[in-house]
Amino acid sequence: MSSIDRIEKLIALAGSANEHEARSAAYLACKLIRDGGYRVVAKAADPWDEAFTASAWTAYATRAEPQARRRPAPDTRPRRRVPCEIGSAKRSGLCAVCAEPFEEGSDVAFPMLASDANLGVVHADCRTRWTVPIDP
Ligand SMILES: [Zn+2]
Repeated sequence: MSSIDRIEKLIALAGSANEHEARSAAYLACKLIRDGGYRVVAKAADPWDEAFTASAWTAYATRAEPQARRRPAPDTRPRRRVPCEIGSAKRSGLCAVCAEPFEEGSDVAFPMLASDANLGVVHADCRTRWTVPIDP
């Protein structure tokens, strides 16, 4: 029988109704613990228990955070307004500002400059927010 098994048996015996037996068992258990250099530790110190505690999950979430920071930096280039005029959409499409669809025949804004022709079309309501980065 290992010392641990003996100590556990003695600890169980220390709860005996027989006071003399309980006392000697407790004394002997403590002596074995002391002599064996054992330490009594809290159950949470078990790394497998720890893996399922909330703090372990929090720590995992914290480690995952640097990945979120790898997102591209926001576009901070200087921007200019796109000169545009309101007209009727020739076909349905997606607004270049809000990316929401617009229907054929609805009020949209077209770029006025030929050089902006590839910028697409926006909702008439979105035209005041229509900006593009200024080319270097
Ligand atoms: Zn829009």
